[in-house]
Amino acid sequence: MSIGLFGGTFDPVHNGHLKIASEMLRLLNLSELRFIPCALPSHRNLPLVSACDRAAMLDLAIETEPRFVCDRREIDRIGPSFTIDTLVEIRKELGPSCPLIFLMGSDAVHSIDAWKQWKLLLNYTHLFIVNRPGVPMRFPSHIWEWVKMYQVSNLSFLDSTSNGHIFITPANALEVSATEVRNMLGRRLLHVNRLLPSSVFDFVKQNDLYLEQWNNENRKSSFVKKSVLANEN
Ligand code: ATP
Repeated sequence: MSIGLFGGTFDPVHNGHLKIASEMLRLLNLSELRFIPCALPSHRNLPLVSACDRAAMLDLAIETEPRFVCDRREIDRIGPSFTIDTLVEIRKELGPSCPLIFLMGSDAVHSIDAWKQWKLLLNYTHLFIVNRPGVPMRFPSHIWEWVKMYQVSNLSFLDSTSNGHIFITPANALEVSATEVRNMLGRRLLHVNRLLPSSVFDFVKQNDLYLEQWNNENRKSSFVKKSVLANEN
């Protein structure tokens, strides 16, 4: 049986993540799908809430599906979270023959060349790429060439080998992003509850998450904008 891996910031986890994770369970013969929240992302802005709260929200979001697991290794590791380090560790634990399948949205693939040792990822895992609605499946040419070199058109390749293939799934994803969810939570817009599980929404309210962090973030960016404008004038 294969193991699915799903890395991300999950700031917070939302229905878009859960929908593609469920699609992956449906399409592949997975014994489990591990959500791996990063501690310090190396190639993007810092998350607004702590790793501990993001993992707690993941625990709540996945509690009804026994094959979903929250793997906290990147949170427990000191320093920036590099996917390659995580894959090396997991491969060592599971041995050379277990198929590992790493789930990614097409937006993440677009900038995969910013990841540490990105071309070595396939030495440890397969990639299962989901088209993100609203984001055209277009990659810079050197990334397309790499994708084409390893792309397979039949899912069975992912189950029958341990690593090294890329599959682009036609599975439907939801047009939702954590950025949109954070903006709505920051403004306490109630209809955000359509975009994330109710247990996660309750956790956000109980722990007063995103309101202050979102305001600080927006104050900071409007301060930067104002300073830029002041310097320009
Ligand atoms: P943000 O808006 O903060 O960038 P995000 O919604 O993209 O967040 P992440 O935790 O950064 O969420 O994403 C983790 C992984 O999930 C990435 O590979 C991303 O492409 C994928 N992903 C996130 N949302 C969706 C979605 N709605 N459909 C398909 N893939 C998604």
